[in-house]
Amino acid sequence: MKCTFCEIVKGNLPANVIWENENCLAFTPLEMEVDGHLLVIPKVHYNDVTDIYSVALSEVMNFAKECCNKIKYEHGYTGFNLLNASGKSAQQSVGHFHIHILPRKEEDGIEAWPKLGLGEDIYTSSHNKL
Ligand SMILES: [Zn+2]
Repeated sequence: MKCTFCEIVKGNLPANVIWENENCLAFTPLEMEVDGHLLVIPKVHYNDVTDIYSVALSEVMNFAKECCNKIKYEHGYTGFNLLNASGKSAQQSVGHFHIHILPRKEEDGIEAWPKLGLGEDIYTSSHNKL
């Protein structure tokens, strides 16, 4: 099955592309969860955070930062939630690495950071080198 986001990058599927640079695209999702909701993707296909190359991840994050600054200064938003789902178990819907940008304003009533309160420490040790 073809990757929807790769087809958008190739121009084979339409998308409302807002910003683009050499390596990344920002476009509006089909379902806008909040005003100004954007998806930021690398133009090269990576499945998720576990297989994206470091350089590509850096490029996507810097591009997302630039998008946030544009939204901040051109549209008056004061905060952002950057969301990524990696893997089916994390509810990733399209298997091409992407970051959701949710622009925020004070007291906008949006709960993008749910309090789950279900966490347990799964790590047997801490402060190890990666
Ligand atoms: Zn893809």
